[in-house]
Amino acid sequence: MSIYLDNAATTGVIPEVRDAMLPFLNDDFGNPSSKHYDLGRRARRAVMEARQQVAKLLGAEIPADEDRVRNVYFTACDTESNNWVIQNAPLVAKGKKHIVTSAIEHPAVLTTCAFMEKHYGFKVTVVPVDSTGLVDPAAVEKALTPETARVSVMVANNEVGTLQPVAEIAAIAHRGGALMHTDAVQAAGKIPLDVKALGVDFLSISGHKFHAPKGVGALYVAPGIDLPPLIHGGGQENNHRAGTYNVAGIVGMGKAAEVAMAEMATVAPRQFALVERLWQGLSAASPKIHRNGHPEKRIPNILNVRYDGAEGEAVLLRLDMFGIQVSSGSACATGDIKASHVLLALGIPQEDAHGSIRFSLGRDTTAVDIEKVIEVVPQQVRVIRDMSVTWKG
Ligand code: PLP
Repeated sequence: MSIYLDNAATTGVIPEVRDAMLPFLNDDFGNPSSKHYDLGRRARRAVMEARQQVAKLLGAEIPADEDRVRNVYFTACDTESNNWVIQNAPLVAKGKKHIVTSAIEHPAVLTTCAFMEKHYGFKVTVVPVDSTGLVDPAAVEKALTPETARVSVMVANNEVGTLQPVAEIAAIAHRGGALMHTDAVQAAGKIPLDVKALGVDFLSISGHKFHAPKGVGALYVAPGIDLPPLIHGGGQENNHRAGTYNVAGIVGMGKAAEVAMAEMATVAPRQFALVERLWQGLSAASPKIHRNGHPEKRIPNILNVRYDGAEGEAVLLRLDMFGIQVSSGSACATGDIKASHVLLALGIPQEDAHGSIRFSLGRDTTAVDIEKVIEVVPQQVRVIRDMSVTWKG
């Protein structure tokens, strides 16, 4: 028996997506840039259809007969999309050299900002979050200067699931003359997204977080903004992102977007309720357990907890013996003995920030899975606490 509850790290490719991709791994192997014969044109049409599907997931508009690429660009991953927006900030915001971001962004944003600081003389202001992981829009407003080129605040945090007031922050960024970017990778396919309602100029996602394969992502760029390429070469993506199209991956991402849209109204409330049941079951079974992140303003599928006297990593290893796959934070931070920067930003002391466990549910997680987790986790926490020399019960 195996229960996979690490869907915030990555998800499996679902059958609908695999079926949509298969022709493009077999006979339909054409290059979308080869317009002069049918094989190429078929691939081109498939990429265009996928762009429509992804655009719908984001509430972006692309004319149905539009052959020219607009607003939604395919990339290799969310990390590339984030890099594109942040690294090319100097080319759009001529002369402005300041970025405002939050303390709980993923390294895909934070290390790119640090790169801009080190190599391009940018100043980066990192606004704090409260104990539930919320950014205060007033703090963003205070951080803005006439030099601010970009504000980058994520829609949903990958470790604790907290949802940020992105629309409010975007309005503030615009009033201050900055452009707004959001990393929406954990929200896409989980909650309705609408780039117009959010008021963002740039939005990044990755397909593998919502059942598309790894190796494909997208960046939304608002109409009227010409973001020069990060990757130079051929004229793909209307001269905005060079490199031969990952056709099968793109088709998979389009299909995954369509499926997520169709299922969201049933999957999201089910996951939200399962997370509440999980929290209720775990908190009833063990003393000194704490919930990290906002209990209501959150994406439906993440629960992050910590146990006093039980290291998160130790619990993970024991759960693995029982076929329960979870993580202690972001996949990128795992294997790294440093405490999570997200939990530290929530004000959790260094020694306690090691103790967290992130359960991230998938579209197919069942109530039976959750009951099993509620049975096994407290037992294993007890075993670890019993071995601990510091745990005083
Ligand atoms: N941003 C957030 C919030 C994430 O959770 C992740 C992956 O976990 C990334 C960025 C990076 O995504 P990718 O590895 O698909 O580029």
